[in-house]
Amino acid sequence: MATIQPLTIYPLGVTPGLQDQFGRTMDYLRISLTDRCNFRCLYCMPASGMQFQPRDEILTDDELIRLVGIFAEQGVTKIRLTGGEPTIRPHLTDLIRAFKSFPGIREMAMTTNALLLANKAQDYKDAGLDRVNVSIDTLDPARFRFMTRGGRLDLVWQGIEAADHVGLGPIKLNSVVVRDHNQNDVLELARLTLTRPWQVRFLEIMPMEGVGMIYEDGLVTSAETLSDLESEFGPLEQLPSHDSDPARVWRIPGAAGTIGFISPMSEPFCETCNRVRLTADGNLRLCLLHGDEVNLRDPMRQGASNAELADLIRQGVWTKPWGHAAWEEHIRTIRGMSQIGG
Ligand code: SAM
Ligand code: SF4
Repeated sequence: MATIQPLTIYPLGVTPGLQDQFGRTMDYLRISLTDRCNFRCLYCMPASGMQFQPRDEILTDDELIRLVGIFAEQGVTKIRLTGGEPTIRPHLTDLIRAFKSFPGIREMAMTTNALLLANKAQDYKDAGLDRVNVSIDTLDPARFRFMTRGGRLDLVWQGIEAADHVGLGPIKLNSVVVRDHNQNDVLELARLTLTRPWQVRFLEIMPMEGVGMIYEDGLVTSAETLSDLESEFGPLEQLPSHDSDPARVWRIPGAAGTIGFISPMSEPFCETCNRVRLTADGNLRLCLLHGDEVNLRDPMRQGASNAELADLIRQGVWTKPWGHAAWEEHIRTIRGMSQIGG
């Protein structure tokens, strides 16, 4: 005789798939694989005294794989690996392969500083990684070293070229624009798109914990960056952007690539948000700029079944806040980007 499975009761009006109370569907999971990093970017981590979590608080490989399987069953189709710096996570190639083996995970991307990418790009591609976004704030080696507090631009560039070579594209480059640091470097970065079919994206700095001072003086709005670019290249053409893509996309007329603007401070894109985050220590983070998190690690370690974890995820997503008010003071006390998984 067939066993009758107990029915899961969901909040009124919720259909299968990860839905929030505002009708948004979350099919995109960003996973922080580690809170550690081999750089110390000045807008991301304080110069010294960064507190990292004890290793036993970080999800193990098995725990991560199990959770990704549950998210996939619940309707997540796209994953982004991030951190901290995801490429310093041991066994990354195996993790990529395991995540991609779940039916339903159709796309897997990674955000990386690319320092270690040159030798690993092919392995990641072969294991199932589809594409990378690389953070690069300037093409000037000395300024790069200063902004990352020691990073080597030549190695990062080799990583980008390797990613392009093995087909981890379309390549997107992320640059956080910081006044008095790399504001003038946006021109050289944008110039890359003239000949390469890449997307160079300019991000507004966010006031995360530990980097509040840089934010106070450093915010350059996307409107200001666009105006700087148009002074150099003439009027840019605006292109249609995908609904859930936070980037507003432009092109220098005739260019091979495009320019994206990500404007969480001046033009929040909460209405079309389709993403939630899994922190390295196993919390479901509902919004980058809200403290609300659902602890998945502890119930898992205490023996919760997959169905119970799925319920925690569904109920958590249902309560996802509508959006953030970037100017609210509390944001400055929110844990740093490297801990949440930017
Ligand atoms: N280490 C990887 C990297 O840098 O690409 C992945 C993690 S990093 C936290 C993810 C993204 O967050 C990067 O593109 C970085 O530039 C961005 N980021 C970090 N701190 C930020 C801040 N305060 N405001 C805006 N973006 C930030
Ligand atoms: Fe590391 Fe990325 Fe943060 Fe830079 S932005 S310190 S590379 S986690």
